[in-house]
This record gives sequence, structure tokens and C-alpha cells, in this order.
Amino acid sequence: CGIVAYVGPREAYPILVKGLHRLEYRGYDSAGVAILDDDIQVYKKKGKVSDLEDHVSEKKHRGHVGIGHTRWATHGAPNDINAHPHVSGNGRLALVHNGIIENYGLLKTALEKVGHTFETETDTEVLVHLIEEIQSRESLPLEEAVRVALTRVVGAYAIAVVDRDEPEKIVAARKASPLVIGVGENEFFLGSDATPIIEYTRKVVYLNDEEIALISKDGILSIKTMGNEEQHPAIQELDMK
Ligand code: GLU
Repeated sequence: CGIVAYVGPREAYPILVKGLHRLEYRGYDSAGVAILDDDIQVYKKKGKVSDLEDHVSEKKHRGHVGIGHTRWATHGAPNDINAHPHVSGNGRLALVHNGIIENYGLLKTALEKVGHTFETETDTEVLVHLIEEIQSRESLPLEEAVRVALTRVVGAYAIAVVDRDEPEKIVAARKASPLVIGVGENEFFLGSDATPIIEYTRKVVYLNDEEIALISKDGILSIKTMGNEEQHPAIQELDMK
């Protein structure tokens, strides 16, 4: 169970895969990535990160923005379909999640009533559909749709979300699961811990509990609380001794 993400001038895929290898020590049963180019390319596979790499090798995976995940299944069997990233019904959003959405059953029933159908057995897929529903109903920017969606969620999570229609952005949030932002030169990283980040930068921002960050290659554009209060990112220098 780990999250990585990248936005910047380099190819995202090799950075994501290397980061997932760095997080392997945490344990997992499946792995996956979503890369933004003109669309969202999603590759996911039960098994090791090397199984994911075998699965991807023949395919197209170019793009400078992406998210990656190693899964420790809590809801739904460990298999290819239940692996993350999960994609919204309209194909616009991809999301990775560590943790548990405790009220996913209630949310799922409510979303099914307004026309959503689900392809997986995970709690996570409900969250990406909830964000999609709020985003399309209220025409909100991604970061605001994520914030509003999370005010309806009971549970523990670290998430990262990308949007085909706002392709420069990564939105990240956490509650009771860790998430670290790596601050480079016109490039930014996310990790469940600093291990996927330290070879690129020593500057990090530890996202606080119940905060949502909007990141692009131009910077950490905002950090807000779930209650919509703007926070100031505190950049720390990692001591690598
Ligand atoms: N609850 C989610 C699932 O079962 C995420 C598990 C995790 O933390 O990897 O897919």
C-alpha cells in the first residue's frame, strides 16, 4: 500500500515505477499507474511491480503527469480489475487510494440511484464516482470537487487524483494516512513516504491530516483544509545522514 505521483518535464512512467519499487517494502498485492497524455492511460496488474512492468512494456505510456499505486486489498479480491488506479464513469478522472472508505456502501447506493454503474468491488471506485458526480453537477474545478467529495466520506485515506480535462494538475489529500510532497525545480513528487522522492529532491512538504493539495509543474498551487481554509506549505529539508 503506497502512492507515488509525478508532475514535471520528465517522462512520468519511469519515475512512477521506480518509486513503486522503493515502496515495495510496505507490502502489497497489485500495482498500477495512470499517465496523462491526450487521454488517461491506465495500466494495472495483480502481483509485483515487475509484473506491471511486463504488462506495460509493449504499450504506449508517454506523458509528464502520472500517479501510481501499490494495493493492499481491503475491499474486493486482489485481481487486475480491483487494482488501482480507478477511473470515473465518464473516463475523465483516475484516482489512487490507500486506506478505507467506511461509508462506501451508502455512497454507492446513492450514486447508483443517479445512474452510476460500478465495475469493481472496491471502496475506492465509489470515491472516484463521487468526485465525478460533484464535479459534473456543480462544474467545479478538480481540487474543489475533491474537497467537497471528501466532506462526505467517512474513513481513512491518502489519495491522488488526475483529470484528463485539467491535465496539468494533481490533487492529493489525506486523512489518517501519510502523504509527502517532494518539491523540485519545476517538478513535484508525491509519496506515501519520502523513499520514492529523495533521489530527486531533499525538499519536502508533509501534508497535514485533512488537507488537500493542488500541485502542478508550476508549484504547490494551494493547500486547503477540508473546511476550505487556505494553508501555507511548510517546506522542510530532509537530513540524509
Ligand atoms: N481499500 C482500498 C482497496 O481495497 C485501498 C487499499 C490500500 O490501501 O491499498 O482497494
